[in-house]
Amino acid sequence: MSAKIIDGGAIAKEMRQEIAAEVEQLRAEQGLTPGIATVLVGENPASQSYVRMKSRACEKAGILSFGHYLPEEATQEEVEGLIHDLSADPTVHGILVQLPLPSHLDEEAILGSVALEKDVDGFHPINIGRLAMKGREPLFIPCTPYGCMVLLEKAGAQIEGAEAVVLGRSNIVGLPVAMLLLHANATVTICHSRTKDLPAVCRKAGILVAAVGRPEMVKADWVKPGAYVIDVGSNKVDDPTAEKGYRWVGDVAFDEVKEVAGAITPSPGGVGPMTITMLLKNTVTAAKRTLAD
Ligand code: NDP
Repeated sequence: MSAKIIDGGAIAKEMRQEIAAEVEQLRAEQGLTPGIATVLVGENPASQSYVRMKSRACEKAGILSFGHYLPEEATQEEVEGLIHDLSADPTVHGILVQLPLPSHLDEEAILGSVALEKDVDGFHPINIGRLAMKGREPLFIPCTPYGCMVLLEKAGAQIEGAEAVVLGRSNIVGLPVAMLLLHANATVTICHSRTKDLPAVCRKAGILVAAVGRPEMVKADWVKPGAYVIDVGSNKVDDPTAEKGYRWVGDVAFDEVKEVAGAITPSPGGVGPMTITMLLKNTVTAAKRTLAD
């Protein structure tokens, strides 16, 4: 039987409408307009496009977006100085440093210089540390992992007690997803490039999250019948039959895996639209917390 398709586009659209309504209410009743500052260093075209998408989504939701662009050769002091100023600016409730940063910059120090209460990407070491510890809560959850968890919940997955397997251990996706699943009381296995017999490990999973960046790596015979499959992967592959000569695919061989899984996200159209949605949500949360001060 074919799996239930988890429509990230539709879920994200509905959530963004709710967020826009909340933003309007904050403006009308509290005189507060949430604002986010994006910091982009250098001219990586993919990063430029992500920042544009984020700014557009903010605008549509009524959130102010302040774009800050520094040249490729910006120094550590210049980047940290800008973040310091934004951390002190009361119109800025969230600060997003677009990754990756040019290699001469110290990413850990830069992410650590973001004011904790404005860390809407959830990458401040203290937020990640809290996410890793039992009984502690981060101020913000990293956006892509947060989106994965919302999709699982909306699809009706029973996370507590489930065997969850996460493919990938990156700081921005695999590791935080695994920590969130652990917080939600799943039994979690994290796989990476040195894991032996990946198909056998994956076949144990009632919940399988793929974040490896390898086009259509997860095949039908890697998946336990009825499993929830979340495909974070977003990979550009050549396709001479496509108008542009390429197309986007996930880390999961969607057409064959959907015949085995119980529920599955497509890619594109699954996790992708959720990432920006969770950023909007985190920004509104940050703004609302200033009211309680
Ligand atoms: P990284 O390259 O940072 O991490 C990939 C991880 O997968 C690493 O832990 C690596 O292992 C592991 N890995 C790579 N190849 C294999 C393999 N053959 N077998 C087992 N494990 C392997 O990628 P990201 O986490 O940044 O991104 C993963 C995917 O998610 C990409 O396709 C990316 O485009 C997509 N993505 C989508 C987002 C969205 O909003 N939808 C946001 C962010 C990413 P090791 O640690 O040993 O090297």
